[in-house]
Amino acid sequence: MTTIREALQHATAQLEATSPSARLDAEVLLSHVLNIPRARLLADSHRSLAARELNTYEQLIARREALEPVAYLVGHKEFYGFDFLLDRRVLVPRPETELVVERALEWARRRASPVRTLADIGTGSGCLAITLALLLPTATVYAIDLSPAALEVARLNAVRHKVDQRIMLLQGAGSQPLPQAVELIVANPPYTVLVEVDENVRRWEPHLALDGGAERGFAIPAQIMGEAQRRLLPGGALFMEIGAWQGQQALSAAQRLFPQARVTIDQDLAGLDRVVAIES
Ligand code: GLN
Repeated sequence: MTTIREALQHATAQLEATSPSARLDAEVLLSHVLNIPRARLLADSHRSLAARELNTYEQLIARREALEPVAYLVGHKEFYGFDFLLDRRVLVPRPETELVVERALEWARRRASPVRTLADIGTGSGCLAITLALLLPTATVYAIDLSPAALEVARLNAVRHKVDQRIMLLQGAGSQPLPQAVELIVANPPYTVLVEVDENVRRWEPHLALDGGAERGFAIPAQIMGEAQRRLLPGGALFMEIGAWQGQQALSAAQRLFPQARVTIDQDLAGLDRVVAIES
């Protein structure tokens, strides 16, 4: 018989060699298997695990030992206070991407009229499109992705958050499938150079969501900005995540494409350049 306490001790020891958050991972995965809050693990530490529970747990620990993201193992993750279903078809939402939501909401709240149309280019799990659909209830949202598999995950999330009636999922490159110009564009596009990406991210997460192409990963972000010239309505805005090394590049490209607009580069909580904002 293995108790909760023993299972946690054993799993933590197993994860310590690879994971920087071994104990936390062990607890999160066990609370997932037992379907109880993490705090209950301590209170119930002498409870024994059923053979089936232990088996499932050991399989998850083995996957985590190979540094598969915890979000894939438990099948969901929180973004901006909302819970999103996740699997290997989509990038795991990062906390720094919440800055795109914050900037878009600030902009929306300063406007005289409610936002009616917005587009999320490269939607992945749908975390940006769905969060904004929930917080901007007057908006029709276009969520675009090149990957049909990612769009399937976004669809599940839209249904889960009951915004599927207001989100149009469109397959295609960049903003090409957009049926109309919009007031607001958001994006967390692929912007990295694959060989420079953390090895574990590269091993587990979809390369299509990471590889920004030429110009040190700036080719795709540059293309999205270029297309926005025709896709943004007058008075519209674009908020796009970029790499920390792309601030200057993004600033000059945005100023060249939108000479009349207010262009800023915003830093994330780590003080790194993270979002290019174009407010026309
Ligand atoms: N922030 C991610 C990483 O560095 C990259 C996300 C992206 O390319 N959009 O792992």
